[in-house]
Amino acid sequence: MPGKSEAIVVGAGVAGVMTALELARRGERVTLIDRWEPGHSRASSTDYNRIIRAIHGRDEFYTRWVREARLRWMELQAEIGQTLYYECGALILATRGHCHWEDATAETFDKLGVPYYRFSAEETALRFPQFDTSSIAYSLYEPEAGMIMAHRGVRAGLELFQRAGGTVARGHVTTDAHERLHLDGKPLEADLIVVASGPWMGEMFPRTIKPISTVVGVNVLYTSTPDGSTAFDMANMPCWIDHGEGSFGLPSSEGCGVKAAVVIPDKIDLDNDERLIRRETLSRTRRYIQKRLPGLVGERVVDSKFNQIILTPDTHFIVDWHPEHSNVLFAGGCSGHLYKHGPVFGDFVAGVGLKEYGTADRFRIAGRRKLSPAESPSGR
Ligand SMILES: Cc1cc2nc3c(=O)[nH]c(=O)nc-3n(C[C@H](O)[C@H](O)[C@H](O)COP(=O)(O)OP(=O)(O)OC[C@H]3O[C@@H](n4cnc5c(N)ncnc54)[C@H](O)[C@@H]3O)c2cc1C
Repeated sequence: MPGKSEAIVVGAGVAGVMTALELARRGERVTLIDRWEPGHSRASSTDYNRIIRAIHGRDEFYTRWVREARLRWMELQAEIGQTLYYECGALILATRGHCHWEDATAETFDKLGVPYYRFSAEETALRFPQFDTSSIAYSLYEPEAGMIMAHRGVRAGLELFQRAGGTVARGHVTTDAHERLHLDGKPLEADLIVVASGPWMGEMFPRTIKPISTVVGVNVLYTSTPDGSTAFDMANMPCWIDHGEGSFGLPSSEGCGVKAAVVIPDKIDLDNDERLIRRETLSRTRRYIQKRLPGLVGERVVDSKFNQIILTPDTHFIVDWHPEHSNVLFAGGCSGHLYKHGPVFGDFVAGVGLKEYGTADRFRIAGRRKLSPAESPSGR
C-alpha cells in the first residue's frame, strides 16, 4: 500500500510481538521473524505466568510504566476475549536488616499515588497465613498487581498482530563480521529492522550488545497444593517478592501449582542446553519453601522450568539504534522484569523506530554502569 514503510521485527518473544503489533497498528507493513514457533520454550517469555507489580524501588519511570501496562493488558484481554491478567495482588516481604529497597518502594508509591497497604509481620501473618513471617520486618501489599499469563500473552499479541495485517515468518537471522543482518544468506533489508532477539542479542552483536549483557539461567519449580485446600490458590494468596531470600513466587493459577523461583545465577548455552532444571536447585527450593511456606512441606514438585534472562549492568532495558546501521534498532535487555511492561514497551519502541521521539537516556547502549541495589530498579 503506498505510503507504508516496511518494517521487520526479529524475535517473537513479548518484546518483539508487542513492538510488531504497535508498528502494524501505526500502519506499517510488518514482518515478524523468529527461529522457532512463537511461544516456544527456549525463549525468556515462555512459562505459564509472570508477575506484574509496580514495585520498583525508588525508580519512578518503571513504576509509572507498570501502572500503564496493567491497563494495556486489560485492554488486550478484552480485545482477544481470553483471560491474560489475574489481579491477585503482590506482596513484598521486607526481611529484617534488608529493607532499603522496600522502604524506597513505599516512598515512590506515596509520591505517585500507587495504592498499597503496609502490614507489620504479625498483620501479614494474619492476612496471609501461607507465609512464615518470623524473619520479616514488615510487608507491602499492592492490590492492583497480579499475574499475566505469559505464554498466552505472547500468543494473544501474535494473533492481534496478524489481525492487524502483520506477517509472521520463520527463519534464523544471522550477523556478519560488521554486525549486518542476513537471512538465508541474503542481507536483510527494510526501512526499519527492530532486533528483539532477547538473550540471543549478545551473541548476534558481539561488539555492540555483548559488552553490556550477561545471560543467566533461572530455575523454577511448581509445587502441588495440599489435598482439598484452596489456601494456595490465587483467590487466597498473592504473588510475592522475597528479596532477602533471593526469591519470588506466584500462587497456584489454573491448576499449575505454587511457583517458587530461587534465583541461583546459572550458566546456560542458549542453543544447546536442554531446558531442564538443575537437580541441585531442588533441595535449595525445598529448603526455601520449608522456611517461607510451611503449609507446603511434604508437597510434591509437579512441574518445573529452566530458562534464562539477559541482564544489563544497571538492569535498564535496551532501546537504541545500532551505532553503524541507522535502520537497526535494538529492543530488549530484559533484566528479569520486561514481561509485565510488554504492551507499553512495544508502544515505546514503535514510536522510537518511526522517529516519533528519541529513546530515553536510560535505554541507550553507551554509558552503562553497575548500580547499587538501592539505586537499581530491580533491587539487584
Ligand atoms: C524464570 C523467569 C521469571 C521471570 N519473571 C518475570 C516476572 O515475574 N515479571 C516480569 O515482568 N518479567 C519476568 N521475567 C522476565 C521476562 O520474562 C523477560 O524480560 C521477557 O520475557 C523478555 O522477552 P524478550 O522478548 O526480550 O525475549 P524472548 O522471550 O527470549 O524472545 C526472543 C525471541 O527472539 C528469537 N530469536 C533469537 N535469536 C533469533 C534470531 N537470530 N533470528 C530469529 N529469531 C531469533 C527467539 O527464538 C525468541 O523467540 C522472568 C524471566 C524468567 C526467565
